[in-house]
Amino acid sequence: MQRFSLNGKTMGTRYTALFYAPCGSDTAAIDASLFSAVDRVDRQMSSWNPASDLCRINAAPCNTWIDVPEELAQVLDACLKVGQQSKGAFDIAVGDLVDAWGFGPSPRASVTQVAAPSGRAHTPATAMLDMDRSTRRIRKHAPVTLDLSGIAKGYGVDRLARCLDDRGIDAYLVGIDGEMRARGSKPDGTPWAVAIEKPTFGKREVAGVMELRDMAIATSGDYRRWIEIDGRRYSHTIDPARRQPVSNRVAAVTVLAPTCMLADAWATALMVLGEGEGIALARERIMDALFVLRDGDRIQEVLVGGDQLASRACVSVRAASPALSRPGLHSVRPGSRAGK
Ligand code: ADP
Ligand code: MG
Repeated sequence: MQRFSLNGKTMGTRYTALFYAPCGSDTAAIDASLFSAVDRVDRQMSSWNPASDLCRINAAPCNTWIDVPEELAQVLDACLKVGQQSKGAFDIAVGDLVDAWGFGPSPRASVTQVAAPSGRAHTPATAMLDMDRSTRRIRKHAPVTLDLSGIAKGYGVDRLARCLDDRGIDAYLVGIDGEMRARGSKPDGTPWAVAIEKPTFGKREVAGVMELRDMAIATSGDYRRWIEIDGRRYSHTIDPARRQPVSNRVAAVTVLAPTCMLADAWATALMVLGEGEGIALARERIMDALFVLRDGDRIQEVLVGGDQLASRACVSVRAASPALSRPGLHSVRPGSRAGK
């Protein structure tokens, strides 16, 4: 067995694949299939590519059935489910708001004014879309700009994992930016290690290490992508109910889940729900999540442990430096742009 490390550009950031495979494996072929898997996701789900299927849906007329490819149908289906289960906190109908706040594809030098929430209430995607899963079609009731950047990277990671599964590779850590998924462990039996960042603005520091076996991890944070207006920071996560960026004590949420798509969507959802509702819902749903709260200048961590944290992954919140020099350590880097 040999250790391989491949990476390349996608979604405005990079994909990475670290894996063990027989010596002399055809890395060029493996890399080509990894790239094609993520590129397919990007071509379907990017807000930045006007030719993407997502942009085609956004531009399509209302009350007409639109054909969508299988991967996109899967993701839209998951979006509507997590939307419902998170009581509207995860909502892909935020495209116009994301854009108005300067986090979307519309070019703007800077946002100088707080976008006033309009008088009308926000209509969630769950109330605006019909999905026919059997025929892979979607229909909008009203004009809406859908945004899949809160889930597309996670789904892309699942496709990377599938690529390696299909080749019989059963020890890997794959990721796009900070969203990662692990299978098996390293040949010496040690689990894959993923670094958790401190939620520091403009600086990259490691807060801890999470060890993963057969699990995906995703983080949403307020400290990588934000705008500042009149000395106040506004993050790229939108609270759909308020039609504004979230404003709560949660600096970051890391979620563990069997698929990276779900981990990614839930990290965004729990960020919106905040420490009260978010922690309560994570406990109720027996999820595995790490909430990082800002308490003045101090940081407070709340670990909600479902099955996975208890049995399969372990967390060391204060990372010992030897852990960081371990091979296979990848950094969780929330805040960069998905689907770009
Ligand atoms: P990152 O893109 O850094 O990995 P997230 O996974 O948290 O971070 O996704 C944030 C992106 O998701 C935003 O830039 C925006 O495009 C989109 N988004 C913002 N608010 C919501 C929301 N409430 N529900 C779904 N998607 C959202
Ligand atoms: Mg997300």
